[in-house]
Amino acid sequence: MYVLVLFLSVLSQNVCANEKSIIGGIFYKDSDDMKVALEVSAKNFNFTASIKEVSVRGEILEVSKYVCELAEEGVIGIIDGTGGRASENIQAICDMLELPHVSIQHNDLYSENWSVLNMHPSPTAFNMVLENLIIHKDWRNFTLLYVKGHSLLRLGDLLKMGNDSYPYVVTLRELSGDNYREVLIDAKRNGYTNFVVDCPSRNLEQVLLHAQQVGMMAEEHSYIFLSPDIFTLDMDRYRYGGVNMTGFRLVALQNKDNEKLWNFTTTFNQETGKELEPDQFKTKLLLIHDAVEVISAAMKKLKDVKAEFLSCDSYKAWNYGSSLLNFMKTNKVDGLTRSLIFDGLGQRTDVTFDLLELTSAGNQSIGMWTNNKLKIDRPIVADAEITQEAALRNKTLKVLIAIAPPYGYLKLSHETLEGNDRYEGFTIDLIEKLSEILGFSYEFEVEQDYGSKTETGEWTGMALQLREDKADLAICDLTITAVRQSGIDFSTPFMTLGIGILYKEPSKQPPEMFSFMAVFSKEVWYYMMLIQLALGVTMIFVGRISHKEWQNPVPCIESPEELSNQFSFANSVWLIIGSVMQQGSEIAPIALAPRMITSVWWFFTMVMVASYVGTLVAFLTVEKNVLPFNTVEELYNSKSISYGAKKKGSTKQFFEDSTSPVYQAMYKKMVAHNWLVEQNDIGVKMAETTQYAFFMESTSLEYWKERHCDLLQVGGLLDSKSYGIGMKKKSPFKKYIDDALLHLKENGEIEKLRNIWWKEKRGGGKCGEKRDEEQKQLGMKNMLGAFVVLGVGCLIGLFISIIDMLWGVFKRSVKYSTTFKYELVEELKFALKFSGSIKPVKRPQKTPVDGSFEALAKAEGKDDIRSLHSIKSTDTRRTQHSHSSRHSSRSLSVAFAKRRSYS
Ligand code: GLU
Repeated sequence: MYVLVLFLSVLSQNVCANEKSIIGGIFYKDSDDMKVALEVSAKNFNFTASIKEVSVRGEILEVSKYVCELAEEGVIGIIDGTGGRASENIQAICDMLELPHVSIQHNDLYSENWSVLNMHPSPTAFNMVLENLIIHKDWRNFTLLYVKGHSLLRLGDLLKMGNDSYPYVVTLRELSGDNYREVLIDAKRNGYTNFVVDCPSRNLEQVLLHAQQVGMMAEEHSYIFLSPDIFTLDMDRYRYGGVNMTGFRLVALQNKDNEKLWNFTTTFNQETGKELEPDQFKTKLLLIHDAVEVISAAMKKLKDVKAEFLSCDSYKAWNYGSSLLNFMKTNKVDGLTRSLIFDGLGQRTDVTFDLLELTSAGNQSIGMWTNNKLKIDRPIVADAEITQEAALRNKTLKVLIAIAPPYGYLKLSHETLEGNDRYEGFTIDLIEKLSEILGFSYEFEVEQDYGSKTETGEWTGMALQLREDKADLAICDLTITAVRQSGIDFSTPFMTLGIGILYKEPSKQPPEMFSFMAVFSKEVWYYMMLIQLALGVTMIFVGRISHKEWQNPVPCIESPEELSNQFSFANSVWLIIGSVMQQGSEIAPIALAPRMITSVWWFFTMVMVASYVGTLVAFLTVEKNVLPFNTVEELYNSKSISYGAKKKGSTKQFFEDSTSPVYQAMYKKMVAHNWLVEQNDIGVKMAETTQYAFFMESTSLEYWKERHCDLLQVGGLLDSKSYGIGMKKKSPFKKYIDDALLHLKENGEIEKLRNIWWKEKRGGGKCGEKRDEEQKQLGMKNMLGAFVVLGVGCLIGLFISIIDMLWGVFKRSVKYSTTFKYELVEELKFALKFSGSIKPVKRPQKTPVDGSFEALAKAEGKDDIRSLHSIKSTDTRRTQHSHSSRHSSRSLSVAFAKRRSYS
């Protein structure tokens, strides 16, 4: 044995001075981050790390073995990440070997061992800062929540605040096991609101979660957390609840160019593959860095330190241990957790903490603990508005609802339901959606009276409850009215509506005698008649100016002295009516223009007749509803029909407050005859079974119509208004409820809910297809196209005939050496006379050879008739239908010759 010790000591003398010193680390197996932190820090300060992993927590033998192994490796100090009994054991061995033992855990007891150096702020520091903070917060009573096994002793001074000599009441509650809810519920029942939480960093999340679950994260609750890791957690989900949470932070983040911190963060992230931000590092990791830095600084001061391979068996202490430790305690170093100052017992003193508070705008620094003094300089909360919103999160609101389909129903179930489960409906779902957005919870209470102001100025129903703060919200088919608005606030409207009349569908009446006329609307009939007249005139004119329409009335006479035209008024009308009746007529146009006009007319009649026939059957067979009234006035005048509205509602109020004499009179009648009903469903039943018209809001009316197919809405709406969520005046929730409602409206959620509760659930969709069976009359809208085609066709025809006429006029003016104008005037005069279907054959204007007019007439007849020969053969039949002249051709030729010379 002696030889071995001698050998080791010789060997220790030879530890190469150039080799890196080794820093030992003892951590539990699951503390990967701590191991990396030591490796990274050791590398930064030019050390080598030797790490031992303890597999079983609190296993002293294993820990002892590792300390001895590290001592044998020649470490210059041991960083201990274990804590508790294991730490005590390490400390004992290090004490014996005079090996610096650096703890990073909070310690329960003031260690009297000289070899220990505790990086964690001392209990004295914590006691001081807590005491000051509690005094600053003016907590007269508080509860200390601690986790079992996590010592209370370090908070001795705090406990003393509960002594009789202090004006404070201190209560203790132990958070044992995994379920902290029971303890928290108990604290809640006892009305405790201020808590100091002392628990290890690993339990923090669980404590927070359970506190939230039992409703201990509301405005009235305040917490101070001892763990400096509290603000490394994601606190987002708690920040809107209004809860006050205060905690400490050791790391100096304000110093943005803290290079050490950034280097450490970068190398740590590189090693672990994590993406931690500097403020997300757990305190222990930073303390490991600072421990290595303290050792490094001391090593620099104490030159020529030689590591030695020590043995637990030889009880030989390390020569340099005590000196190194002394330097570690006295050296003033600035680490990641600010100034590292220790007292003679190796406890960290003069600690500087940032004081942080959780606000709705995130974590905010509210001051500092430095030089053993509390400095509070709370900044203005950046987002004050969010703080308001916090008023809703985690709050339990009392919500008034009404059992009024489809806004609220009692749920049908074979089980006995309790609480909110008892209700369903549109407003129940709407509140659910709002609570999802705003994070509040709610309790329903049924109130059937929506409330208003009585004549004596007292409020009733929902309005009263809201005003007296007995409820937070009222949601049902609550109409926004001026009277209500004077006493309570309303959210932005979530539905618009008006008053309608619900009445039962009257029995069907057989079709009327002249129902065949109803196929077309009146205006179509009028236009048809008008257009026939106009067309008749057009046909006459076009016929008269169309050259080819003037025909030889007696085909066997080759050179007639007169020409006849078939387009007399009677013929034109006959042609038009014949086509309308689909019978045709024997009148057939010859010239292009009349043919064109006739074609478009035939097309028009084809469309009109087809449309008429197609719709006629329906009009002859459909039985029509004949309503006993169509307007409110008619209802008022009706002797046999009674009417009413909901007794305590805005509809009744509408009639009561109306300035219209009819509505006023109706209201008086409703009251006098007791026609007002308690609830909408009673009114609906009366409307269905008796001669009763029920005034109802259109939204509800639609709902009932959808399920009672024999009911319908008569006439339009009497007014326009909306539903809103009621709340007390100046309610802090209004803005957030409004925003959330708008959001639900914009993304179509409210419409979706409406469809579900109106058209699908509880018997919806029953009468959907039934309604629209009434046959639609064909109006001008439907037939306009045919009219347009006819109009355009006529215009084209007219245009062609005018060209034709002009051409004829031109030819004649050349032929008879007259002016174009003269011929045109003559032609128009003749055409516009609209009378006389006989046209004399024209003669050249020259002095008759024999001086007689007879000779002149003969000469002219030859010229004009020539062209007619070609048509004559095909149109002989037609010419026979022309009006035969009663005059002889000879006498007419004479007459024309006279006109030519004297006119
Ligand atoms: N919506 C009405 C109100 O808020 C109740 C129904 C009615 O009067 O038709 O009073």
